[in-house]
Amino acid sequence: MASQYVLPSVEIARLASPYIELLIPKLTGKHFIILYYLLPYSLIKLKYGRNIKVLMDLEKLRRDVIEIEDEIIKIRRQIHENPELSYKEYNTAKLVADTLRNLGIEVKTGVGLPTAVVGTLKTPRPGKTVALRADMDALPVEEMTDLPYKSKEKGVMHACGHDTHVAMLLGAAMLLVKNVDMLSGEVRFLFQPAEEDGGLGGAKPMIDAGAMDGVDYVFGLHIFAKYPAGVFATRKGPLMATPDSFKITVHGKGGHGSAPHETIDPIHVSLLIANAIYGISSRQIDPVQPFVISITSIHSGTKDNIIPDNAVMEGTIRSLSEEVRKRALSYMEKIVKSICDIYGAECKVEFMKDVYPITINDPEVTEEAMKVLSNISKVEETEPVLGAEDFSRFLQKAKGTYIFLGTRNEQMGCVYPNHSSRFCVDESVLKLGALAHAALAITFTNMK
Ligand SMILES: [Zn+2]
Ligand SMILES: [Zn+2]
Repeated sequence: MASQYVLPSVEIARLASPYIELLIPKLTGKHFIILYYLLPYSLIKLKYGRNIKVLMDLEKLRRDVIEIEDEIIKIRRQIHENPELSYKEYNTAKLVADTLRNLGIEVKTGVGLPTAVVGTLKTPRPGKTVALRADMDALPVEEMTDLPYKSKEKGVMHACGHDTHVAMLLGAAMLLVKNVDMLSGEVRFLFQPAEEDGGLGGAKPMIDAGAMDGVDYVFGLHIFAKYPAGVFATRKGPLMATPDSFKITVHGKGGHGSAPHETIDPIHVSLLIANAIYGISSRQIDPVQPFVISITSIHSGTKDNIIPDNAVMEGTIRSLSEEVRKRALSYMEKIVKSICDIYGAECKVEFMKDVYPITINDPEVTEEAMKVLSNISKVEETEPVLGAEDFSRFLQKAKGTYIFLGTRNEQMGCVYPNHSSRFCVDESVLKLGALAHAALAITFTNMK
């Protein structure tokens, strides 16, 4: 595995280049072998500005992360036992701020939200600013595992693995403080509340409060039961969807169940709307585009012989392209209006405002990030998923990559999906996540 990038003397390459041109006709196979070894060194110098002997010693980072592995797991278990819901991550935020301060990292708390924490690690060397993000909130799920450190909070569980995100990023902070000589520029540690909220979310208030000001690159990791333990998975371009929640209200005219002709039946109108909007995915959207509409609730009526006045339907639309999304939303409005006009019902379509945008990984940064990760563990190119993430908002402010880290382990019984009450994590992957964060920070702060 390529663990050390020993930088060449750029001077040698520069001074040698005119002679190499003159010599090309006389070059033998031996000379080409020498050039073959010189060239990558020169390219590294062009890419990374820093003229140091060793840019990143991955073997040292690997040794260091083994030393702190127990501590990372201990932090994870402490957070797992004491999960906190979105916007209420007070104790988690305190643990984060205390740990960062003990490492000598500059800490700001209450960045946009009371529980948001930003740590800053500056170096004296000029370089890029790299932000690393971990979300901190748990879910309203009753934990059904029998782990010795299972949740002590009734009805609250870290079922999406955000406890591991916090622990891995704190592990990275420990690694980077210890190996600060490998860094240039600045590393920003973003500990974000309320990713699971799905509405406002924690990323936006943090960005509005300046957490991303001056950031050149941003990276985030999500633990994911879909992939085998220790496998990194990501892709260039769209990775996760934008979630458009909708609510359709049909105001009809109630009456007796035996005389529907004297009413405007909102249930009948709602069923026609439901059938028609399911046609959007099959008849209005390019079938090769990832897209889904789900109606997830319909509420109306009270009794078998009463036609009610109103009906309300709610659901979600997921898409990976802004064009597809706009087309779907516009068709939904047209369908609702047309059907309601025919039956004389008054209808309203409401879409949730300011939803999480599409998570779009920068192609060049992702390619580079995948190379870095491939020195740590196996890397797979993943298909997009139609879940949503407000890491997307950070990606609108700086180039970067969102990466999944697999935790599926059949032998340990870690086979349940994220958000399941039986979700569990193979903790041996946590050191890989810490290492990945640290290696990405070192590589990208040193980027020219
Ligand atoms: Zn989740
Ligand atoms: Zn999550």
